[in-house]
Amino acid sequence: MPDRRPSRASAARAATAPPPGHEPRSCVVCGRTIGWRAKWARSWDQVRYCSDGCRGRGLQPVDTALEESLLDLLGRRAATATVCPSEAARAVGGADEAAWRPLMEPARMAARRLVARGEAEITQGGQVVDPSTAKGPVRVRRAR
Ligand SMILES: [Zn+2]
Repeated sequence: MPDRRPSRASAARAATAPPPGHEPRSCVVCGRTIGWRAKWARSWDQVRYCSDGCRGRGLQPVDTALEESLLDLLGRRAATATVCPSEAARAVGGADEAAWRPLMEPARMAARRLVARGEAEITQGGQVVDPSTAKGPVRVRRAR
């Protein structure tokens, strides 16, 4: 008998429905919601990363600096004001585009981590969006 393994499609369906006691959590690196996978049934408590890429990358000093920059920018504005992740990228990387541009995705990751900790919200067009699935430019504001 051939060894029948679950198809990718069924694995994707399972990702949306973690069993009780396995509530979704956020990747400690990129801040995206970690989709449930059956292979984690017995090790869920140890799952910290959404992917091998995030595990390999880890959190670096620049990531903490970007979080602090976002909070600093928000702290200096009205409670309802928003900031663009690029502002934190510039604050940390410097005005030279070759320096701050590579920090854009790390800045978005920092924003998602703040959302996961309840310290910020990510918006598009003034509406709060799911940081894990938002595509295109986003703004960051203080959590309400
Ligand atoms: Zn991740």
